[in-house]
Amino acid sequence: MNKEKISDLKTRIAQLKVAREDLREPLDFYSKILDAYDSCDASDFGEPFAPPAAAAKGPYPFIALGETELDWNAAAPLFRSLCKTFIENVEAEEDVERAAETADEDIAGVIRNAFRVFISAGAGVSAEPTEEVTPQLAFISFLAMRPFVDAYVAGARALLDNEDGVYEAVCPVCGGIAAMSALVREEGHRHLVCSACETSWLYKRTRCHLCGNEEPRTLGYIMAEGPGVEDCYTAATCEKCKQYHRMLDTRKKKFELDIALEAIAAAHLEILAQREGYSPAPGWRGLDNSN
Ligand SMILES: [Zn+2]
Ligand SMILES: [Zn+2]
Repeated sequence: MNKEKISDLKTRIAQLKVAREDLREPLDFYSKILDAYDSCDASDFGEPFAPPAAAAKGPYPFIALGETELDWNAAAPLFRSLCKTFIENVEAEEDVERAAETADEDIAGVIRNAFRVFISAGAGVSAEPTEEVTPQLAFISFLAMRPFVDAYVAGARALLDNEDGVYEAVCPVCGGIAAMSALVREEGHRHLVCSACETSWLYKRTRCHLCGNEEPRTLGYIMAEGPGVEDCYTAATCEKCKQYHRMLDTRKKKFELDIALEAIAAAHLEILAQREGYSPAPGWRGLDNSN
């Protein structure tokens, strides 16, 4: 994560904190996570995996992130720093405390294992944490590998056609599940945003990506009102599967989407949607122990 992005995110956090007193705690916590990125700002995140241009039309996904060897050792300082951030600011799991104390020669294996647990859960293969990795440790490994994954998938991401591409509900780059939707450009094209590699891809606007339902009368939105609540966020609901997911209308606010910050900023919708009987879409929910 580069300095410019960190600084933009900090500006947004400062603005949100003024408007939304209820979000202070998670916003402060994310700010501390950004400090960890800032202090471990490596310049080399590895080479991108570059599929040939002929592969653009599939098959998808291009990459099996759960089997990819990333530079775990290069990510170790950031991983350690993030473990420390969790230990100092939230109720940290025992395996996070253990991970923070891991010797240098063993740390790559710890990060790889936790990251693979995160990916397999995110790809819908298994939502259950394994015996030795809690969701919190898996989430920390995701945070630590974010810049490396971003660099690795850049070449594959560039092959996507976000004008006319036809993609499924899972990420065409890595097979991950969607963390949220975004409405983009004047036309309000809908993109899904990957919870693992953060790629966004074109998806049909009037289809529930969770169950495939395309009946317009059964697809709805929940909006929130209240002091400081931003109108760019909705919870998109489906009557058929009774699930909801977060949607950001980027036309109403000009900022670069960040899946972790959007999860915090739209947290109030989670409560509203669940009160109305909808279940959250699978995937991580935010910066707390319940992700
Ligand atoms: Zn992905
Ligand atoms: Zn549905």
